[in-house]
Amino acid sequence: VVPGNHQRTFADLNLPDELLQAVTEMGFEHPSPIQAEAIPPIFQGRDVIGQAQTGTGKTAAFGIPAVNLVDVTERHPQVLVLCPTRELAVQVAEEVRKLSKFKRGIRIEAIYGGDSIERQIKSLKAGVHIVIGTPGRVMDHMERRTLKLDNVRMMILDEADEMLDMGFREDIESILEDMPEDRQTILFSATMSKPIMTITQRFQKDPVLVKVVRNELTAQNIEQVFFEVKPKAKVEVMCRLIDMHNLNLLLVFCNQKKRVDEIVEDLQIRGYQAEGLHGDLRQAQRNNVMSKFRSGVTNILVATDVAARGIDVDNVDAVINFDIPLDEEYYVHRIGRTGRAGKSGKAFSLVGKDEKYRLREIQNYTKVRIEKGVIPSFEDIV
Ligand code: ADP
Ligand code: MG
Repeated sequence: VVPGNHQRTFADLNLPDELLQAVTEMGFEHPSPIQAEAIPPIFQGRDVIGQAQTGTGKTAAFGIPAVNLVDVTERHPQVLVLCPTRELAVQVAEEVRKLSKFKRGIRIEAIYGGDSIERQIKSLKAGVHIVIGTPGRVMDHMERRTLKLDNVRMMILDEADEMLDMGFREDIESILEDMPEDRQTILFSATMSKPIMTITQRFQKDPVLVKVVRNELTAQNIEQVFFEVKPKAKVEVMCRLIDMHNLNLLLVFCNQKKRVDEIVEDLQIRGYQAEGLHGDLRQAQRNNVMSKFRSGVTNILVATDVAARGIDVDNVDAVINFDIPLDEEYYVHRIGRTGRAGKSGKAFSLVGKDEKYRLREIQNYTKVRIEKGVIPSFEDIV
């Protein structure tokens, strides 16, 4: 331990053995800053607002107290987590299941649109302790009376900024209005905005604000490079970059759904294992695409920003901005998918002439210089 740089351990946070065992098995050595700051007040029963960038471990920051709170002898929902997308609900449920591995008898269910409602109803009937869902489907179950929130003691709003961006404000409010007053309300978000503050003021009691300003934007472990490319040559340049850097797992972002399909087709023709993710796919297809990417069967995932919200996949070597995003914050979200948990990553942006000004705006916003890269020649890759 470096003097003056004392790092807390999970044991310091007073985790019960079953949770200590789980985090150890998950390979977590130390709590991340947001976990170290948020877990103690949540354990104390306080309402908490947690603000931290993507990839800082917010899921476990609420997942650990959620698992801890559950009394397995009571067979009704005790914790409700709301997430903006189906993918995120599935992902959060997976992480919470891992955290609860040594807590016997605990049941966790993800409920989201596009998945069979009958199956969800059956599962809820059998008794679920932690429900993780998207606002629309949660409302649906509440209206059908297949989900009762009378005994919920902890309510978690994950990625609250994204949920509001996606137009879930009214759903969230009616869910919160329908819950027991006597509960803990935890809200996590990468950014704080006026609408979020309005929700906090209305639905949280004397919340503790936990803010971790690890500047993800300047993250030293993400190498940010741009390449000036004629629009027609983007696929070719991207393939050269993939080959030259031996990129194994990568996320390619573009601005339109139509473009996703085009790029996937171009990549497949060239022999790459690529698949696309966008809002027009059916849920089963989306799940399938994600699980293939997660397991490495597909190594290139091409997505739009909305489809890829919050998706967390380990070991993404690089993010390629096939198009420069229209919004500076999207740039930050996109590149935050690589270089996670201290690993190194690359963020390559393919910039057409008419996109140069956007790159400038992004640099003004992030205050980080994006280096100009040299396009690999054919000789570089053979
Ligand atoms: P966020 O919600 O803040 O974007 P996640 O909760 O998705 O971040 O976590 C990002 C990644 O970091 C996940 O793969 C997660 O398993 C991992 N992680 C979380 N906490 C720790 C920790 N304490 N030590 C190591 N890895 C962690
Ligand atoms: Mg998250």
